[in-house]
This record gives sequence, structure tokens and C-alpha cells, in this order.
Amino acid sequence: MTRAPRTPATGRAPETPRTALTVAGSDSGGGAGIQADLRTFFACGVHGMTAVTAVTVQNSLGVDGFTEIPPDVVTAQMRTVAGDMGVDAAKTGMLASADIIRTVATTADDLGIGRGPGRTPLVVDPVAASMHGDPLLRDEALEAIRTELFPRATLVTPNLDEVRLLTGVRVTDADSRRAAADALLELGPRWVLVKGGHLAEDPRCVDLLADGTDYVDLEGPRYETEHTHGGGDTLASAVTAHLARGLDVPDAVAKGKRFIERCVAESYPLGAGVGPVSPFWRLAPEE
Ligand code: PLP
Repeated sequence: MTRAPRTPATGRAPETPRTALTVAGSDSGGGAGIQADLRTFFACGVHGMTAVTAVTVQNSLGVDGFTEIPPDVVTAQMRTVAGDMGVDAAKTGMLASADIIRTVATTADDLGIGRGPGRTPLVVDPVAASMHGDPLLRDEALEAIRTELFPRATLVTPNLDEVRLLTGVRVTDADSRRAAADALLELGPRWVLVKGGHLAEDPRCVDLLADGTDYVDLEGPRYETEHTHGGGDTLASAVTAHLARGLDVPDAVAKGKRFIERCVAESYPLGAGVGPVSPFWRLAPEE
């Protein structure tokens, strides 16, 4: 098919943005999962692509259940976009089952996605449960996250509940935060970001970024809001977008943290439960 040449509305030739792939679950409420990842990718200036792993039935009050996508369909989505459009950075979110985790890990290897020089960076957000406590991962799949995904990750971004599930370390202060980072690094990722947002008694929100040599506390404000649905997904996908744009891990994490802070500050109530964090502030006012 031949297309007529386009006259760019801007007077400039259209530029293809960098691309980011999310391998994650759908949130019917639109605040977390694939939906949060796509709006974050858009807000951070990259083209978002998806491999859906599960379809959740949820709203602001919680997750009523989910259906897993067959593992071969998950990997087919990854392969078809990577083969045609290319992937500059990838992230995983809700992966639901050990079978899905295993096939995502081997497909990532085939596609050159994962830690290592010259490869496409991979951010692993080890999603285990919703903030309401609803499970998003089968119990037997935790081990697959540890053994299949962590060794392949450029960066892992667990919250404190996920840290405890994965390592047994209960983070309460700076020392235990560092012990948690070391326990996570033993599982093989290049970098870890231990997120302190769930340590409610801390008046600041301190995340620790570590690679075994450097240990950097990233401090930010703690906002008084209950509307933080999708916060973890939004941070991980903002970091992924900045990796896709060519930043290194410390710079991408620093930018991602500033992005999520603003999204939490501008979160909004929606429904009778927990509302979503919001990247609306990034949109230019309508002309
Ligand atoms: N639903 C899906 C599909 C998710 O991926 C996640 C988190 O990663 C959630 C729900 C839970 O989000 P939250 O813990 O912010 O409520």
C-alpha cells in the first residue's frame, strides 16, 4: 500500500519516539496495571506497547478476581511487537502465575531483554497483591519471581510488603532497609530500589537505590492522601520510560521518583474507595 506524503501539522518531520513494553495485568478501573503504565509512558514521552498477562475485575474498592492469559499468548504479544517495532526498555508488573513468569523470562532472553551490556533494560516490579490485600500472584509463583526474573532484571522495585515476602526482611529503619537491599541483590538483579512509601510512621518517603557498591537514599515528601492506587506501577513505568530514552539507572530512578511524587500530590478521589495517582499535570492546557 502506498500512502500520500503527510504534511506535518507542526511543520517538522514526524519523529518516532522511543518505545517501552509493559508485560502486566489489566485494571478495569483504569488506575493501575497496564492502564497506569500506558498513561505514564505517554506522559513521559515514549510510545507504549503491551503484553497483557491477566484481566482483573476491579474498581476502587478492590479486585474481585482475575483471568490469566495463556502463556503462549503473552509471549506472542512480546515477540510480535519486539520483532516489528523494537523495544527500547521493558517492564514487568502483575504476572499472575509461575507458568507465565517462566515463559516471559525465556522470551525476554530470546529478545535480548534483560540485564547486561548492549541489551534492552528490564525493570521488574514484583507485584504480589493489591493495596487492599487482594492476591495478584499465585502463592507458588513467588519462587519463580526470585529464580527466573530477578537474575535477569536491570532493576527491581519492590515495596516493603514485597520485600518481606521475597526475602523475609522486615524494613523498619535505615539498617534494615540496607539489609533488605543486600538480600534482594543476592537474588541477582543489577540494581534494587527498596521503596519506603509503605513505612507510614516515617514522615519522609525514603527509597534506597543500591547496586552493592553504591547505596543512595532518595528522600521525598510524604503526602497525606489515601488515593495512591497505581503508585507502584506508575513509578516503575516512569523509570522504564526514562531508561528507554537513554538515561542510566540512577538518573532514570531520580526522574521517576520526581514524577511519582507529583502524581501522588495530584491524585484524585474516584469511586467509593481508593482513587488513582494522576499524571494529568503533564498535559499541556488545551489550545
Ligand atoms: N491491578 C493490577 C493489574 C496491578 O498491576 C496492580 C499493581 O501492580 C494493582 C491492581 C494494585 O495496585 P495498587 O496496589 O496500587 O492498588
